[in-house]
Amino acid sequence: MIPFVDLKKQYLNIKTDIDNAIQEVINASAFVGSRSNRFVKIFEDSFAEYLGIKHCISCANGTDAIEIILKAMGISRGDEVIVPSHTWISTAEAVGNIGAIPIFVDTLPDFYTIDVKKIEAQITSRTRAIIPVHLYGQPADMDEIMDIASRHKLFVIEDCAQSHGALYKGKITGTMGHAATFSFFPTKNLGSFGDAGAIVTNNDEFATYSRMYSVHGQIEKNKHITEGRNSRLDGLQAAILSAKLPYLEKWNNCRREKAQLYFEYLKDTPVKLPQARDWSKHVYHLFVLQVENRQGLMDFFKENEVQVMLHYPTILPLLDAYKQRGYSPEQFPVSSTYQPKILSIPMYPEMENDNVKSVAEIIKQFCYK
Ligand SMILES: *Cc1c(COP(=O)(O)O)cnc(C)c1O
Repeated sequence: MIPFVDLKKQYLNIKTDIDNAIQEVINASAFVGSRSNRFVKIFEDSFAEYLGIKHCISCANGTDAIEIILKAMGISRGDEVIVPSHTWISTAEAVGNIGAIPIFVDTLPDFYTIDVKKIEAQITSRTRAIIPVHLYGQPADMDEIMDIASRHKLFVIEDCAQSHGALYKGKITGTMGHAATFSFFPTKNLGSFGDAGAIVTNNDEFATYSRMYSVHGQIEKNKHITEGRNSRLDGLQAAILSAKLPYLEKWNNCRREKAQLYFEYLKDTPVKLPQARDWSKHVYHLFVLQVENRQGLMDFFKENEVQVMLHYPTILPLLDAYKQRGYSPEQFPVSSTYQPKILSIPMYPEMENDNVKSVAEIIKQFCYK
């Protein structure tokens, strides 16, 4: 069987680092505690340094990170926030959870990121922010997005849940918007052993608010200036993330090598391969193909014991969650057209090159049988 990802293998490669990190937290009983927890502080500081950004505020997961920064920006009930039609639900759900309205914009056929040419038509007097997603590890068109945002006085939050380490014209994703959010869900390019997330920003006020809001509205111990929430990174996850961070670049390069092999093996086949712009550094969180007979290929993979997945089976506006908005596929002609064709094939840094080749061979057999 060729798995979709193999987290165990990654653990075994750096077992001593991880085991020591976990043991240290247990020895110190430093399980929770925001920045007063030294493991949390160390991770926040090292992640901020890695990105070259002023503040990193850790929290419980990547979805909370989006909610918290939206609150910090003063976005509230009735405000509108622009999000891509094709992404994981968190991007839109976080907007809805603070009472604001996610406004969906179609994506690009080759790159899967938000189509900047379609953003302005959706801007109204209630629009407050844009959340571009660097989907699958590919940076969105940040220059154009920042330009639109400054003309319309909107905030930009980069959703970097899939783009740890990806570069846009030499700049690391997460440092171009007014703030950015990360998820460290176990399978992300930098993943913890549970749920974890962070907000990053150069803006002092957003940072102070986010930190305060994520620990019960406390500005200092027992001084609650508002009702907040409980969204903390725990000590174990922080220590695990600090142990893994030094490997991130290497792992991203391994992903890029696997991608290169897929490109070589599959270049003359009818499947549509992921495209990357020459000015971006794609980090292949996912390797997503487009294929006409997707169900046929999925069945063939199953017969050959290869795990594949769909990211995502439905574009967001067409989910039951947004039924009351009455969207039709024609309003999102690009994403609704490629959605039935997309298929994510195995991709992870520790994947053996032989397995990359086997997956590619199976695709070729399917195409020419
Ligand atoms: C994973 C992910 C998130 C947030 O994930 P959590 O599971 O809440 O940590 C947000 N946006 C995108 C695009 C994601 O892939």
